[in-house]
Amino acid sequence: MIENHLPTAELQRLDAAHHMHPFTHGDALAEKGARIITKADGVFLTDSEGNEILDAMAGLWCVNIGYGRKELAEAAYRQMLQLPYYNTFFQTSHVPAIELAARIAELAPGDLNHVFFAGSGSEANDTNLRMVRQYWAMMGQPDRQVVISRWNGYHGSSVGSGSLGGMKFMHEQGGMPIPGIEHIDQPDWWSEGGDMTPEAFGIARARALEERILEIGADRVAAFIAEPVQGAGGVIVPPETYWPEIKRILAKYDILFVADEVICGFGRTGNWFGSQTYDLVPDIMTIAKGLSSGYAPIGASVVSDKVAGVIGKGEFAHGYTYSGHPVAAAVALENLRILDEEGIVERAGSVTAPYLGAKWNSLTDHPLVGEARICGLMGSIALTPDKARRAPFAADKGTVGLICRERCFANNLVMRHVGDRMIISPPLTISEAEIDLLIERARLSLDEALDIVN
Ligand code: PLP
Repeated sequence: MIENHLPTAELQRLDAAHHMHPFTHGDALAEKGARIITKADGVFLTDSEGNEILDAMAGLWCVNIGYGRKELAEAAYRQMLQLPYYNTFFQTSHVPAIELAARIAELAPGDLNHVFFAGSGSEANDTNLRMVRQYWAMMGQPDRQVVISRWNGYHGSSVGSGSLGGMKFMHEQGGMPIPGIEHIDQPDWWSEGGDMTPEAFGIARARALEERILEIGADRVAAFIAEPVQGAGGVIVPPETYWPEIKRILAKYDILFVADEVICGFGRTGNWFGSQTYDLVPDIMTIAKGLSSGYAPIGASVVSDKVAGVIGKGEFAHGYTYSGHPVAAAVALENLRILDEEGIVERAGSVTAPYLGAKWNSLTDHPLVGEARICGLMGSIALTPDKARRAPFAADKGTVGLICRERCFANNLVMRHVGDRMIISPPLTISEAEIDLLIERARLSLDEALDIVN
């Protein structure tokens, strides 16, 4: 273990001076300094001051298998010695990419039998954007170019995937969205459902897709992309009526469906894929994160026989230097082996999810918590000053979610906030005792946030 490092204050100074962070305010970084994580094991992180922190976010929703699995390090080591790099361009291949593609095809639902590798979820969604358009061009319908997605969905941070996403604060910077992408409203009943029942609201928000298709003209729409459960948008678990109605609409107008499973994949919703949890039949599935449990950067588009059959008739002029990187592929293969052979996905769905779900839902008895939502091992709570009216906080209270997240940090718990929603997505390997600790620290942090807000 590498334990030797500079003192925390010096690391923080160097970090603020030289390291530009994603999604971080530069002033805040300079003022307070970053929390520096030095090692991790199981569900716990250790920071440079020696604090042990329960990571209820599995990093960025990715360390499904938990930290510290030596088998993955050994797989990387062996592969680096054997073949550290080769590409998959120009009709070449290598063993890890072949084996991983075959294994993903085995695990994926339906006829998703073809894998186009990328280095990340963003890259994979960029691939998808080009692939669905190319599919229709090759089908003799080149006008089918528009991709519909949802406000507050997240599909990545590159220009293409950031445009597919519906994060308005991201669109304000750097000229997004690019043309040819349309957004419809999300199925977030708590914030946007008004007087409707969740069921009626689910139907209404699905019908927004049909309305938009008719506005654009079905013969101009290539695809609809969505996360089975919106993750970064705040773990928005849709009403039960939503997905069946979306499926009906997509079939009616023959629109391709891209299920972004970057978060939902590999056990997060209690099944291998969120598409199984919601009985969806994607034409393309985006995967990343849990594919390697974050131990190596890798993503992919998992493509149906229908789409791959057409794309494969020509040369798809697209690819990344690290498409199918052998070390990342070897790590992912080992990760999938462990997830499967140790029954981690199975246990997450049948044992851990019900236990966590009951504990998580019990938080609704807290005065700050309006609703709790959870699907498998991804959950959120909505903070509110008035549960009955589902009211937001007055502006002078600041972002209460941020206050709560700061209290969580102080109590050695990583929970993330999205506005005034607190979210969790712990490693699938979290034990019942660790879930109890998570809930205990969450309650303490909520109590402290309540004292600050009042
Ligand atoms: N899609 C979804 C649903 C995500 O949550 C993310 C990342 O959080 C991405 C795509 C982008 O993946 P990456 O950060 O690996 O580019």
